[in-house]
Amino acid sequence: MTPVTIVVTGNLNGRITEAATAVEKLGVQLGRPVDIWFCLGDMISATTGKEDVMLQEILSEKTLVADQTFFVLRDRISGMNEQLLAHSMNSTASKVRILDSSGVVKLHNGLTIGFLSGIDKPENKSAVAGRTVLYKNDLPFPTDQQMDILFTFEWPQNVLEHSSATNPSLITVGSPILKELLTTVEARYIFTIGENCFLEREPFHAPKSQMTTRFISLANVGTAQRWLYAFNLHSEQAQPDGCTPCPFTSIRNDAQLRPPKRTAPLPEAPSRVLSECWFCLANPTVRKHLIVHVGEFAYVALARGGLSEDHLLIVPIEHVAGDAIPSAPTLTEIETLETLLGKLFAASGQDAVYFTLRHSSSFHWHKQCIPIPKHRSGQIVPFLNSYFTNIGYPLSEKKPDQKLYFEINVLDSRLYATLEVDKFFPAQAAREAMCEFLDLHEFRDWRNSMLTQKDETNLATRWRQRFKL
Ligand SMILES: [Zn+2]
Repeated sequence: MTPVTIVVTGNLNGRITEAATAVEKLGVQLGRPVDIWFCLGDMISATTGKEDVMLQEILSEKTLVADQTFFVLRDRISGMNEQLLAHSMNSTASKVRILDSSGVVKLHNGLTIGFLSGIDKPENKSAVAGRTVLYKNDLPFPTDQQMDILFTFEWPQNVLEHSSATNPSLITVGSPILKELLTTVEARYIFTIGENCFLEREPFHAPKSQMTTRFISLANVGTAQRWLYAFNLHSEQAQPDGCTPCPFTSIRNDAQLRPPKRTAPLPEAPSRVLSECWFCLANPTVRKHLIVHVGEFAYVALARGGLSEDHLLIVPIEHVAGDAIPSAPTLTEIETLETLLGKLFAASGQDAVYFTLRHSSSFHWHKQCIPIPKHRSGQIVPFLNSYFTNIGYPLSEKKPDQKLYFEINVLDSRLYATLEVDKFFPAQAAREAMCEFLDLHEFRDWRNSMLTQKDETNLATRWRQRFKL
């Protein structure tokens, strides 16, 4: 499957012209219409009840905004042009289709799309009183299956569990029925318009297959928060850094799982392995073929989709939460590893830049190491200062008094950005900064720099030999 360009827009509430114009504009930027537009929510404005001329033009295919357009309805529709509706709802060959109530459709390009309209408990929500309850007791939805995209009209309960997004008004929202459903239904993308706000959660592991799931909530069309989300869907899905465990199932602490051949005394911090953590070395889910060195307390691995063959991660062997501090022996060993890497990079004319995020959005504490050519080392500190100031996180040489921060070590400099508990810090900031510095713009999307597993294995073998010298 070639990548499919998909645009999803938030609750329409009758503002079809605004939404269609934005989608068309994207097509102009691409040089071709977007492949699929999913237009969510209410086709007709709740206040005016009027059907827009633009809506008629799109439904009758006089105006084609995207190659294929799907209206995914929150609620059953009334007062619409019956003839147009019948056409769009029945014809699977049509370029414009309406998906209402619930179901799963397979598109001609192989994508599987699930949609689940309605809300869980309308009696608790005076603002939406009168809406159809489509899945209250007997959920009309096939369970136990995987799909590419799932559309819902409420947040699932608990979706912010393990997330760094801690907005108190959003923690308690969500449907328990949807949460239950998502322990058996797995999707690569879940879109919702439930809370009229934009939020993109850190990706998480689906409960069974461990595939990566992204949860995105969109605001109402035409409002101040983000209501349009465009992305390329690839058939191959690599696992990004910073995934959290599944928010819908509970985590087990598998204290009995230990790394093999450990003879060293236990670190000071309570040792533990989280069964769903990809960085805990004893976990079966760890990608062993990427590991290039295992010490007593820390290991070194290739970064998946790294910016170069020398993009590495230094990771504590046992679980250390992203906002915690590794034990003293672990930190000592990490310093030794940095010295060793410094020598290896010097031999190839490079200097290392290290990034550490001390924040809960990093699930298992780690240090990222991205080397730069020595002849550009004089430019790196001024560049990082200006880059992080521009994205709203000015750097300081003074270590913050508070617990959460982002730290950069380069040559003899240590630079810090102060972070806040409630504020989302873009986990990709280090990568994006270095893409700009190294002029590797196409690698901002890590999928563009992914190696095949065979190449990863070969590269790791070469690195293991360098460590042994
Ligand atoms: Zn871990």
